[in-house]
Amino acid sequence: MENWIDIHTHCPGRGISVADRCLGEVVQPEGGQVFYSRGIHPLFIDDGVEGALEQVEREAAAGKIVAVGEAGLDRNGEAPLEVQAGIFERQVGIAARYGLPLVVHVVRAVPELIALRKKYPAFGKWIVHGFNSRREILHDLLRHGFYISVGAKALVEGTNVCRLLPEIPDDRLFLETDEGDVPIEEVYAAVALRRQVPVEELQRMVAVNFERLFSTLRINV
Ligand SMILES: [Zn+2]
Repeated sequence: MENWIDIHTHCPGRGISVADRCLGEVVQPEGGQVFYSRGIHPLFIDDGVEGALEQVEREAAAGKIVAVGEAGLDRNGEAPLEVQAGIFERQVGIAARYGLPLVVHVVRAVPELIALRKKYPAFGKWIVHGFNSRREILHDLLRHGFYISVGAKALVEGTNVCRLLPEIPDDRLFLETDEGDVPIEEVYAAVALRRQVPVEELQRMVAVNFERLFSTLRINV
C-alpha cells in the first residue's frame, strides 16, 4: 500500500482514503484503499435530518464508518447556527460513543466551535478540515486540542495555510483532497516543501497521527 493518507475526500485516489459520500456516490479508485465517513454537513440540513442521524449512528455501531463527518457549523448555511449546533452536538455524541474521529467543517463560527469543544473535554478527536484561516484562529484551535487538516490550498501561493503550515505541530497535522481534483500526492509534495521535510517523513508523520486517531482501524501503513 502506498503511504498516502487522505483523511477527507469525495473522490478517492491512491493510498488510503477516508471518503465522504455527502456530495454523491464515491467512485472506487484503481488501487488505493477506501474507508468511509458519514455525517450531516451543515449546509445540507433538511427534513430528513433525524433519519440521517440514525443512519450515522447505525453505521458507526456496525463499524461501517471510520469517522463521523463532515459535520459542523457554517454561518453561510440556511439553517440557523443554533439548529446546526444542535445537530452537530448529536454527531459529537456519536463520535464520542464509538471512539471515532470527527471531521469538522467550520465557516465563520470558530468561537462557537470552540465553545462546543469545551463541553466535551473527554472527547479529543476533532479534526478541522480544509484549514485556511488566520494565524489567531489556528492557534486558538491548537490551544483547544484540535487537529488541523490541510488540502489543496497548500499549493496556492499566498494563502493563509501556505504561510501557517510550518506552525502546525507534527502531531496535529492531517492532509486531504476534499472535492478538488488535486491528487493527494501533490498535496503531500506542497506541504513537505513548505515544512521543509522530505515527503517520506511527512508520510510517516501523518501515518502516526492517523494510527492514533483512527485507532479503531488496523492498517499497516
Ligand atoms: Zn468535503
